Amino acid sequence: MSLSRNSRRILHLTSSPQIVFLLLLCVFSPSAKAQSCGSQGIAVQVLGSGGPELQDKRASSSYLLWEDGQAKVVIDAGGGSALRFGESGALMSQPDVLLFTHFHVDHSADFTALIKSSWFEDRSRPLPIYGPPGNDFMPSTTEFVYDLFGDKGAYGYLSELLVPNEQGSYKMQPHNVNASETPIPVFHNESLAVSAVRVIHGGVPALAWRIETRGKVIVFSGDTNGEGEGLPRLAMNADLFVAHNAVPEGATGVERRLHMPPSVIGEIAGSAHVKSLVLSHRMLRTLGKETETQAEIRKRYSGPIAFANDLDCFPLR
Ligand SMILES: [Zn+2]
Repeated sequence: MSLSRNSRRILHLTSSPQIVFLLLLCVFSPSAKAQSCGSQGIAVQVLGSGGPELQDKRASSSYLLWEDGQAKVVIDAGGGSALRFGESGALMSQPDVLLFTHFHVDHSADFTALIKSSWFEDRSRPLPIYGPPGNDFMPSTTEFVYDLFGDKGAYGYLSELLVPNEQGSYKMQPHNVNASETPIPVFHNESLAVSAVRVIHGGVPALAWRIETRGKVIVFSGDTNGEGEGLPRLAMNADLFVAHNAVPEGATGVERRLHMPPSVIGEIAGSAHVKSLVLSHRMLRTLGKETETQAEIRKRYSGPIAFANDLDCFPLR
């Protein structure tokens, strides 16, 4: 994804915005070979590039972090994304960790489908699951998982995956992450370091996630209206920043209280000096407005911008 030295030189020398736009399209387009995403090195694959509306003909929010052919991290599991997970070639035996930004349907509805598929796959180690705490009208991460897969849960017939009979076997391990505007470390192993901040998404407890691996940094905004200092801090110097393009510029009312318009995305990407920006969570109200969206972001951020589609692959080189 990185720009070659020649590309940078061309971009510096070019004054016409149209030519810059065309060049950026050329140099920052996702890999066409979605089936082989991340077969070597690090890559982010977009499983779901849409929002909650089925008419956008996109799966709802979900991403994979690939490392040498292994899908190491799942971020959200919105409706339709389980099918994309299968299409990507990933296996549920592969993820080291599953991260939730929040528990709106368009970020969590296919979680159960992933877990059911895992029943048929060769997973023999625990699956840590991290997400936000709850409040009066949203479940915490542990409540969400137990409400579905606990003994008395809707899918209690799979409770063996939550309360295993054997020590050391596959089981889900849900955790609530009480984050603030200061990034906190949440999970790490030999290859991954994962941290989070709390973000504002109306009254819904929500997190943004940062994953560091092999010297590369990827940040996922999740859904947020962009208020506060947490997200710019978390996104600082990220190689790839995946931001949610859920509302157009000028949005007001509930839409604006829940989501960040392009100007705010640009502000955060610019102030955090991110090296590339991917816009996802595209909805009917933002689809078709890519030119205006890009123009607003460009006023505040000068790096490459890509609009995500399902199964797009963004290698980090
Ligand atoms: Zn959403």
